[in-house]
Amino acid sequence: MRADLIQRLAVRTSERARADLLRRARTIEHAEGPWLEASGRRLLTFCSNDYLGLAQHPQLIAAFKRVADDEGVGSTAAHLVCGHRREHAALEEALAEWTGRERALLFSTGYMANLGVLQALLGRGDVCVQDKLNHACLLDGAMLAGATLRRYLHGDAAAAARQLAGEPGTAALLATDGVFSMDGDRAPLRALVASCRREGATLMVDDAHGLGVLGPEGAGSVAEAGLGAHEVPVLMATLGKALGTHGAFVAGSTELIEGLTQFARTYVYTTAMPTALAAATLAAVQLARTESWRREKLVALIARFRAGATQLGLPLAASDTPIQPLLLGDAAGALAAARALEAHGVLVTAIRAPTVPAGQARLRITLSVAHEEEHVDRLLDALAALPRAGAEAPV
Ligand SMILES: *Cc1c(COP(=O)(O)O)cnc(C)c1O
Repeated sequence: MRADLIQRLAVRTSERARADLLRRARTIEHAEGPWLEASGRRLLTFCSNDYLGLAQHPQLIAAFKRVADDEGVGSTAAHLVCGHRREHAALEEALAEWTGRERALLFSTGYMANLGVLQALLGRGDVCVQDKLNHACLLDGAMLAGATLRRYLHGDAAAAARQLAGEPGTAALLATDGVFSMDGDRAPLRALVASCRREGATLMVDDAHGLGVLGPEGAGSVAEAGLGAHEVPVLMATLGKALGTHGAFVAGSTELIEGLTQFARTYVYTTAMPTALAAATLAAVQLARTESWRREKLVALIARFRAGATQLGLPLAASDTPIQPLLLGDAAGALAAARALEAHGVLVTAIRAPTVPAGQARLRITLSVAHEEEHVDRLLDALAALPRAGAEAPV
């Protein structure tokens, strides 16, 4: 007898539920800055990726509306058919200029960008070396490409170099997050560049959480590390985080972009992003580049949170980015802490396995320019009120 696939899935779902690992989408009724309304209550939120507070900026909304009025909603076709509009071209140019690359190519999501790049660059017999804590779509991309995936200990550039050295003569891509999405720390980019140079490997950085937040004019973690297109030839970032819109892009040499245009299947065989979205994103890029007060405010909010959390003896991670996880350990404890915060009117999602390694469940707290100092203080008050598991270990 064949297994019933839906039945088998249901068994796995109930196993997850028993382990406190079930996920469920929460319906948000209304969003206003850092405030969300859910279950009829207004909650102060510390879990969005809208780091620069641009998602509801009037200039983005105006650009979106203007182009929707003029051009409609859907782009009606893939880029290579007739979906590539003036707004897409202008956004690609602006992204290339911002990141100091010759060209940029838009993708509908970051997930698709990474699948497309890895599948275009790699094939069977090639090796893809990745940090253990890379985003899921980088791992999926290497598997989809049929490449041999080797994962090194988080942040360990020497281990990455050893893995590359172990596969001499094989074409190799080293891929890393620039800022790690669940930990908030940065990749050792300069050391990884040195390893790639020594071993003749190509370096790719996914800067989903660095773009807009780090570096001169917010150009990202690669620019912050003083590295250019020569050292990091494949740069990817998303538009749905600090830029407050949706989508992603890859930036690099003309050769890279021309090649992706031919061979990245998630670029070729999909509908171009809505034109109005491209226009709103262009407005976001201009604000992100020029309004450096946003980054300064973010730095101040991060410092205020870390000082307060240190005073409370909370298990802070070594991060100076807007991603400030509190490591709690087991899934049940993280869920209980999230529920207790919500009772205080504060929304932070508990992040559990398999998004993070088992036993490393956490509250992934994120800060945004949409927050004010008093919001951070309110979060700290709510954290201070959490029941303590032991005298030494708060929360
Ligand atoms: C969010 C994220 C992605 C996926 O981007 P989407 O546009 O949300 O699909 C890829 N990489 C990293 C590191 C991310 O944090």
